[in-house]
Amino acid sequence: MRRIILFSAAAAIILMAVYVVLFHASRREATFFPMGGIPFKVVAYDRTAFQFYKDMAAVKKSVAELELVFNRFNPESELARINREAAVRPFAMNPNMARIMAFSRKWQKESSGAFDPTVAPLVELWQGAGKTKQVPSEKMISAALSRVGLDKVSQAGVERIFFTHEGMSLDFGAIAKGFINDEIAELLKMRGVRRGVVDAAGNAIAFGDGQFQFGIQDPFAERGRLLGTVNVKASAVITSGNYERFVEINGKKYSHIIDPRTGRPVDNGLVSATVIGSSGADADALATALIVLGREKGIELLKRLEKFEAILVEGSAPDFEIWISASLVHKLQLNLGQVERIHEF
Ligand code: AMP
Ligand code: MG
Repeated sequence: MRRIILFSAAAAIILMAVYVVLFHASRREATFFPMGGIPFKVVAYDRTAFQFYKDMAAVKKSVAELELVFNRFNPESELARINREAAVRPFAMNPNMARIMAFSRKWQKESSGAFDPTVAPLVELWQGAGKTKQVPSEKMISAALSRVGLDKVSQAGVERIFFTHEGMSLDFGAIAKGFINDEIAELLKMRGVRRGVVDAAGNAIAFGDGQFQFGIQDPFAERGRLLGTVNVKASAVITSGNYERFVEINGKKYSHIIDPRTGRPVDNGLVSATVIGSSGADADALATALIVLGREKGIELLKRLEKFEAILVEGSAPDFEIWISASLVHKLQLNLGQVERIHEF
């Protein structure tokens, strides 16, 4: 008798486990660390454990493939090859590279040159300066500037590019995260996920019905401390900031975001720009462009574009100001003590 009871209990547990894995659909979440260790979180609603297991395998594969296109620090990547070869002979781009180039040209134009992926020689110059602790000379800056500008990348048809100047290189660091978000969201949708979130280190895209809540990082506090939260329908929410990555020379902090028009790290008081829009690639490029443009010109651009909402943080702690799109006011919940800092535009 005892044996029968034990046997039936074991059978019930196994059946329940099989049910949970095969048939029980619920919210699933997993994080992995691609692209040099950035946390990449995927949330999918109404998925069985088995479905989600397969979703994640597909996501990881796709992210690895995209990394092999865009990661300029991997010598095997398509981007590293372009940077080595495109000044020598025209380079035939793969379709994803051609698409990110098209996005980049659009945003370089829209931002009047504030966003420009050919900024790489300047990024390297200032990164090197952080190591030698010497501010680059006027001469070094203008030498690097002569190799910067999307107008110096000629393109035959959609897929062949050629650098018109020796020593040019491309860096899609300001747009690739958003682009990859979009790709992964599309992949999940194609797999039948109807609602979900893809979040690459706080740069996220949500798809499906209903509301989604996103945290807005406090630029003056440690990672994870929030200024507040925003509730939005399916959209991309991407933040570009001056606060986390910088080099320090003689006690002065220099941003990792460079103004391609002056050749110098941006220093206009705008510390963080969060953009909400329908596409991750657009929102990512725009967020970086806003940091370069500064608050006034940035708001001008946002007003002209209409389709994006933004949260801008300007100044330094404790006297910073928050500028938000009027349409966001009722969607934003700020943590205590922030309300008097708010300006609408
Ligand atoms: P994000 O965090 O999206 O603002 O991207 C910042 C990264 O984009 C930097 O680390 C650089 O690799 C690159 N970058 C810096 N300045 C610019 C710029 N003006 N336009 C495009 N990319 C830039
Ligand atoms: Mg960006």
